[in-house]
Formats: sequence, structure tokens, C-alpha cells
Amino acid sequence: MERQSMPSTTQHAATRPADQVRHLLPKDIQQQIATHPCYSKQAHQYARMHLPVAPACNIQCHYCNRKYDCSNESRPGVVSRLMDSDGALKQFRSIKRRAPNLTVVGIAGPGDALANSQATFATLKKIRMEDPQAQLCISTNGLMLEHYASELAAAGVHHLTVTINCIDPAIGEQIYPWVYYDHKRLRGRAAAERLIQNQLAGLEAAAAAGMLVKVNTVLIPGINDHHIEQVSQEVRRRGALMHNIMPLISAAEHGTFFGIRGQRGPSASELEAARAISSQYMPQMTHCQQCRADAVGTLGGGCGQSEEPVVEHSYKVAVAGNGEALIQTHFGHAKRFEIYRFDKQQQQFIYLETRQVAQYCSGTHACPDDDSDKQLIIDAVADCQTVLCARMGIAPWRALEKLGVTPNVDFAFQPITEALASIAARIATPLTPGGNHEVCHY
Ligand code: SF4
Repeated sequence: MERQSMPSTTQHAATRPADQVRHLLPKDIQQQIATHPCYSKQAHQYARMHLPVAPACNIQCHYCNRKYDCSNESRPGVVSRLMDSDGALKQFRSIKRRAPNLTVVGIAGPGDALANSQATFATLKKIRMEDPQAQLCISTNGLMLEHYASELAAAGVHHLTVTINCIDPAIGEQIYPWVYYDHKRLRGRAAAERLIQNQLAGLEAAAAAGMLVKVNTVLIPGINDHHIEQVSQEVRRRGALMHNIMPLISAAEHGTFFGIRGQRGPSASELEAARAISSQYMPQMTHCQQCRADAVGTLGGGCGQSEEPVVEHSYKVAVAGNGEALIQTHFGHAKRFEIYRFDKQQQQFIYLETRQVAQYCSGTHACPDDDSDKQLIIDAVADCQTVLCARMGIAPWRALEKLGVTPNVDFAFQPITEALASIAARIATPLTPGGNHEVCHY
């Protein structure tokens, strides 16, 4: 039967916030986490990016459905576009150019980083060579962690997250229907036993190799909510630095087993109670955004004390181009559009994604009148406020204006970065009337 609340003894557990237990961490470790926005709430001005290079997974969790992709949705396992290590490097370069506050580069799926070891290590190597200062981060379910711990450390991974939902196989078999390990598919209790054993051994190996290990636990009412204390004690004993207890995200439309079965997520008070229990043993991460596997940007903590989330999908600019640094592409010749979103917190545009589109212009000076092809390219940018390109025909210009999209050729043959900075300065003004509002300074 589903447990609706935490046991009464735990209701009175210490409720120390993470900041009050931060002094438990040695000074050198505090310094290492100071620029990682997930490990330190005070590092909210720093950005992180997840590179979605890891499609496969070697376990199944009842709360996960990686097929579900909605750009409005933010939860782990969801991704709009996969990429290989070359694409990942390209995206990193593109974003780093425009986001100097990008300090953390992670691989968090949409499957498991270590179930895609080739892609993961190739990506880590390329990013490390490109930017030795980047803090490399990995999220894993832990099945292969012991096997790869020393290789991860050698690749320069300092921060590692392992998701451990329980240490009791009887609970584990309610969460994991199968595990694929050593060329065998294990099910039921055997699957849970193998996974838990590997997770704990992996955690210990990662901590011993010098990585700062954060443990994520998905809180599932009636399944593992009564078990948090045992998990915290054990992972602490094995070397975990921090505990991130996250609420189960469960809705039928996500198509997960739990969602379809009507398994509810925890209430705010249940979540708080679980964190209070765990805080007796470890600092708590309480600001996790349960990000997509291709998330980019800051965690939206705002400046100062503000907890207001960043408005996603606000002002978007589409730049017609084929990978150049200048705006030099005719709208009709664009093979793709780079999409940038204005970030209110950073007061600048950050790269969001690249959209491939069919070319509808054959290379002649005038745009042809093939309406279906034209519609394709217009649809690709219809949710943006501005389209930047070198030139544009009158027909698409009018069609875009009808949709509320403003074509802009004023920046033709100028650098994309300068055009974005100029537009950002213009739209930032109404957000900071009188210029007296506090803004982040990096
Ligand atoms: S999912 Fe949580 S831990 Fe991972 S990047 Fe987002 S905020 Fe940080």
C-alpha cells in the first residue's frame, strides 16, 4: 500500500539547510565546488551545459521514458537532438563564445554516460583539449561506475553524480524491471541486487579516485520514502559528498510505467521531510532543476536571494547560416538556423539549438514560389521573434511578418556575436527600467 507520509519519528529530524552543514566540507573541496552551479547554490551565476551524446541505457527505471521529447519539458532523460563527439565539441565552442560564464560541461544522457563509454570518453577528451579549465561532469546510474572510475578520473572528471534510489533489492525490484550487465539481461530481484552492488562499489571507487560524488535519489512515495535514512547513511559511508533528493516526476502523458500506473510524486512536505532526514548525514542539494539531457545555461537561481526561475522560451532569435561566424546567408539559402534565446539573468543571448531546414531557394537571385518548401523554412523559425540573415525575398519577408516574426538584414556581413549583443542591449532596456535593477555581473 502506498505510504502517504514519512514515519513520525522522522518528522522531528534535524532540518539543517545545506548552507549550515557546508562547514562539514574541507576547505579545498569547498573551493572546487565554488564555481559549479549544481554543487553550490552560491554559484548560480555560472552556467553548465549537458552534451547529449549518450543515447543508450543499460537499465530500465520505471520513472523513465527517453522517447518522450518535448522542448517545453524539463526532466532528465529528455532531449531534442542527439549528437556525436564532434557535434558536441562544435556546440561547446559555439556556446562558450557567447557565454563566458560557462564553467561546467556534463554528460547526462539521455541514456547513461557509461553505457555509451566510447562517445562519452571521446567527448570528454575533446572538451578537455579545447578548454582545460572546463569542469567535466558525468551523471550515471552507476552500473558501470566501478569499471570506469579510474578512467574517468584520468579524463579529468571531477564531479560525478550517481543515482541511487535504494540499497535494498526488495525496494529496487519495484523500481528497476531489468538491468543489462555482462551480456545478460537480469530481471526482478537479481537485477536490483546487481545494480545496487555495482552502484555502491562504483561510488566508493569514484570517491577513492578523488571525484566529488553527488548522489541523486528519486523520492517515490510508498516505495523508497521510508528508506531515505539507510540510503543516506550508506552512501555517506562510501564517500558521497552531497545528497540530491529529487521528487518523482510522474504524469501519464510521459508514458512511463509509474506515470501510467498512477504512481504519484511526493508532496512538498514529504520532500522536505526526506531532505531533513538526509541532512543529518550530508549536505543537501535543494536547487536541482531536474534538467534535460541537453540543458544549457544557468540554473535560474537569479541574482541575490531571488528564487524566480528563468523564463525559458522568451525572446528567440534565429540566425540563418551554415556554420559561419558572420551573418552572410540569404534566407532562402540557409541549410540551418542557429537559435538563440535571450536570458534575462545573464542579459544576453545564449545558444539554444540548431534547426536543419530544407533549402527552398535554388541559388538564383529571386526566391522561387514553391509554397510548400517555403512554408517549411518559415515554420522552422515561426516561434522566434527575429530572424537574422544577409538578404530575404519579399514573399517570405511578408509571410514572417504576418506570423509576428521580424526579419532583420541590418547586420548583414557582421559577426553574429555583435548582432546578438546589439539586440540584447535593445531588449534588455525595458527589463531594467531606469537601469536601477540589480543585475548579475560576471
Ligand atoms: S539535473 Fe540537477 S544536478 Fe544535473 S545539471 Fe541540472 S540542476 Fe545540476
